[in-house]
Amino acid sequence: MYLLELYVTSASLNINHPFTYYSDEEVKPFCRVKISFNHRLTSGFIYRVTKTQKSLKELEKDLGFKVLKIKEIIDQEPIMSMELFSLAKWLSKVTVSPLIAALNVMLPKSLKTASTLYQPKKIKKVKKVSKDTALLTSKQKLLFDSIQDGELLSELNKRTTIHKTLLNKGYLEIYEEEYRSEDKVYYKAGFKELTEDQNKVYQAILASEKIVNLLFGVTGSGKTEVYLHLARHYLNLGKQVLILVPEIALTPQMIKRVKERFDNVAIYHSYLSDKKRHEEYFKVLHGEVKIVVGTRSSIFLPFNDLGLIIVDEEHDHSYKQDNVPCYSAKMVAFKRAKDFKAKVLLASATPSLEVYNHALKGDYGLFKLSKRINEKMPKIKIVDLNKEVKKGHSAIISEPLKEALSDVLAKGKQAIILINRKGYAPIVRCSECNEVLTCRDCDVSLSYHNDTNTLKCNVCGRVYPMPYECPKCHEHSLVKYGFGTKKVVEVLSELFKEAKIGRLDADNTSKKDAHEMILEKFARHEYDILVGTQMLAKGLDFEDVILVGILNADAGLMHEDFNSSEVTFDLLEQASGRSGRSNCEGEVIIQAFNPDHYVLKAVSESSYESFYKTEIAYRKKAKYPPFSHLIALYLSDENEKRLNKASFILYNLILKTGLKCYEPYTLKRLNRRHRLRILIKEDDLVKAINVVNGVVSKYLTYNLATSLKVDIDPLYLE
Ligand code: ADP
Ligand code: ZN
Repeated sequence: MYLLELYVTSASLNINHPFTYYSDEEVKPFCRVKISFNHRLTSGFIYRVTKTQKSLKELEKDLGFKVLKIKEIIDQEPIMSMELFSLAKWLSKVTVSPLIAALNVMLPKSLKTASTLYQPKKIKKVKKVSKDTALLTSKQKLLFDSIQDGELLSELNKRTTIHKTLLNKGYLEIYEEEYRSEDKVYYKAGFKELTEDQNKVYQAILASEKIVNLLFGVTGSGKTEVYLHLARHYLNLGKQVLILVPEIALTPQMIKRVKERFDNVAIYHSYLSDKKRHEEYFKVLHGEVKIVVGTRSSIFLPFNDLGLIIVDEEHDHSYKQDNVPCYSAKMVAFKRAKDFKAKVLLASATPSLEVYNHALKGDYGLFKLSKRINEKMPKIKIVDLNKEVKKGHSAIISEPLKEALSDVLAKGKQAIILINRKGYAPIVRCSECNEVLTCRDCDVSLSYHNDTNTLKCNVCGRVYPMPYECPKCHEHSLVKYGFGTKKVVEVLSELFKEAKIGRLDADNTSKKDAHEMILEKFARHEYDILVGTQMLAKGLDFEDVILVGILNADAGLMHEDFNSSEVTFDLLEQASGRSGRSNCEGEVIIQAFNPDHYVLKAVSESSYESFYKTEIAYRKKAKYPPFSHLIALYLSDENEKRLNKASFILYNLILKTGLKCYEPYTLKRLNRRHRLRILIKEDDLVKAINVVNGVVSKYLTYNLATSLKVDIDPLYLE
C-alpha cells in the first residue's frame, strides 16, 4: 500500500496544508489523482509517496485519523520536476499565497483540473528479429538488410510498403518509445554582424560574473540583435534560452525575428488554446524545445537546463501579476537563474528605477548602448497647452502638431498619435496659475469623482469637497480635464479629410487578433495616422513613421501613485522611440500643460539619467521604493459588515507584530465587492514577508469568508 501526501487542488484557497490518502497501486510524486474531499470529487497533487507494509487499520491507528483511498490515478508520469515543485513552495512563501495557487499559476490549464489524462508522447520504432533470411525473396532480403534497428515506423512507411510482409512473418518487431528529440543545430543563417558597440556589450555580458545583468540601451540601439547573438551562444552550449516579452500581441516583430533565426522556437502566452499550451509545456519538459519566447507565465515552464533568461522591456508592468499569487516574473527569473546557474539579462531603454538603482550599486552588471544604429535620435518638441488655449487654439490637436501632421501627409509618410490614458482622465487644474489640486498629506494629485463631486487622494484615502476656486490664485478657473481616442479620431478626420485614420485601444482590441490586424494594416500603410493609447508605445518598429504626437502627456503626472512620474517618463520616452527608426529623421511633439515638469524636461532631452537623478532623490526623501518595500493586503467581501470585522482582525494582528503600516483604507467597490487595503511600509523585505506569512496564517484560523490578497512590492496602489 502507498501512503500519499497531497494538496487538494480545488480546496478553498484558505487551506494551505497537505492531506493524507492511500493507494493500492504505485503512484509517483508530482502526479495528480482523483479523490473525494468533503464528499466532493476533486483532484489532488501528490508531493510525497511512502510505501508501507502496514494495514489500513494499523495506519489509521498510528496517524490518529481516517485515511481515504484515492479514486483514480490521473497522471502516470510526473507533470513537473522537483525543481519546479520547490519553486512553487518558494513562490507560495514569497508571495504569501497558498501553495495550490502557486501550482495553479505555474501549470497550463489542462493540468490544473482532474479532467485530462496526460500521456507521454510515444513513437513507434522497428527492430530486426534474428531469424534465418534464406526464405525471403531477394527484394525482401534487400529491404531487410537496409533496415536499421531503431528506425521510425513512420519513416519506414514512407519508404516502402513491402515491410509489412516482414512484420507479418515476424522478421521485424514494432516497439514503442517515449518521444525525445535529438540535439541539432538550433540556429539558421541571417545574423547581422554586430557593430563595434554591440560587440563590446555582447562580449562583456558573456564575461559578466553577475547573475543579473542590465542592458540599458536607447530605443533602436540594437538591443534585440544583441539578445539574438547571446541566445545563439547559449544554444550552442546546449542550454535552453527564454525570452520574456511584455505582451505577445504587441510583439509580433520580436517573434518574427526570433523565428527567422532559430528552429524549435516555442511561443507561450495566454492567447494560446489550452491544448497548444499543454503541448508546449510538455515539449519543454521533454527538452524538445530549446528556445521559448513568451509572456510572464512562461517563466514557470519546466526547463531542465536553462542558460539564459532575457527580459525584454524589463520596466513593463505586465511582468507583475496582480491577482493571487501576485508574483513578479523578474523575481522568479532571478530565482530560477540562481538554481540553474544561469544568467538573466534585463533590457530596456527606460529601466525601472529599482533595477537601475541596483545596477548602479553594482548588484547587477550594467551595460550600455547609447547610440541608435542609424545614429539619428528624433527631434523632440514640447507644446505648452496653456499658451495654445489662451490663443484660442484646440487643446486636443495643437497648431504645431497640426502643421507637423500635414507635413507628414504631404510626404506620404505616417504618424502615430498617442493618448495618455484612455477616456476621461479626471484631474482638476487651474487654467490661470497651473495649480493641480493635490492631497495635503501625500504630495500626489487628487482624482475628481463625478458622482459625489469630490476629490480623493489615492494614497491616504482622504476626501476633499470640490472647491469653487483655485486654492492658490483664487480664480474661478478650475478645469476638469480629459478626453478619449474616439474624440481625437473625430477631430483629426475634420482637420484632414483625405487622411486614412486608424484607432487602437482596449475597446476595439478585445478580440484575439485585433491588435495584430490593426498593426498589420498600419504596416501596409492602409492608415496614414494611427491613434491609440499606451499600447502604441511598446516596441513597435514601423519604417515610415516619422512623427509621434503625444496628447495630454502629463495627465499621468497629476494623479495616481508614488510611481506616476516613472510610468509617465517610460511612456513618453518609449513612445518617442517609435519615431524615425529607419533612415528618415523622426520628430516627436509632446503636448502638455506642465512643460516645465522634470519628467517632460528629461524626455525633451532624451535623458533617462536626468530623470533618474531627480526621481530617485524624491523617492529617497519620501522613503518610497526602492528605499522601502510596500506590502499591500487587500480584503474584499460583498458584505460590508463582514469586511469591516475582517479588517479589524487583520489590522490588529499586524499592529501586534510591530510592522509599520497605514490604517485600513476603503477602496472603490468593484463587482459588488466592498474592498479595503492595509498598506505596510518596511525596509527589510525578507523579514517583513516572514512576519506577514505568520499574520496571514493566524488570520486564516479565524475562518472568515472575506477574501484576502497579498501584494508584495505592488507596482501601483489601488
Ligand atoms: P532595439 O532592440 O534596441 O530597439 P533593434 O535590435 O531592434 O534595437 O535594432 C534597431 C534596428 O537596427 C533594427 O531595424 C535592426 O534590424 C537594425 N540593426 C540592429 N543591429 C544591427 C547590426 N549590427 N547591423 C545592421 N543593422 C542592425
Ligand atoms: Zn493623501
